[in-house]
Amino acid sequence: MALLVLGKTRCVLCGRSIETASEAVAFPPLGSATDVSRQLSDAVAHRAHLLADPRAAQITELWREIADNRVAGARILARDDSRLLAIDDRAGVFRYFWFPRLIALEDESNSLRSFADFLARSASGADAAVELVRFTYSVTTVDGRRRLVVGQRPPAPRDFAVTSAISLSEPLIDEPFEDTEWADFAALESTPSQSP
Ligand SMILES: [Zn+2]
Repeated sequence: MALLVLGKTRCVLCGRSIETASEAVAFPPLGSATDVSRQLSDAVAHRAHLLADPRAAQITELWREIADNRVAGARILARDDSRLLAIDDRAGVFRYFWFPRLIALEDESNSLRSFADFLARSASGADAAVELVRFTYSVTTVDGRRRLVVGQRPPAPRDFAVTSAISLSEPLIDEPFEDTEWADFAALESTPSQSP
């Protein structure tokens, strides 16, 4: 993925610097099959600018291809037009992609059951929060508007030698949450509690 240095890295679409992690979408190196993939290859852009771009449908399609590449060799647990959930047994992680908002989530596969419960709870209209191994996830309602916020868990003390450009208190994702998009992701219901 492209390197994101907050306050320095510039959005490939508008040229302005990216100030917070939650407004950014980073792309891996891509082929040059289309103008869009050529422009976004190994680049970072504001999520809002990607979603408002006249080529948004192409960009969503590109995100879908990136997701497919990321889960190559992994077990696909559920997939529909807007989402993909897979477990990578070798890496010990599950990956969840939400194409329409260009969101990719990843956490350790032994916490998938808790994540599925969180999705089901939030899709039912309730506020919900869960803390998994790597990240925290919450859906809250403020002034009648629901938001999904994903944050990084504080690292264990032994990890403090590893510095991060991203403040731990800052959300990695802070997006409007439309629960209809998450509801009825039925295959999650049959997700095994643990990977074999
Ligand atoms: Zn921008």
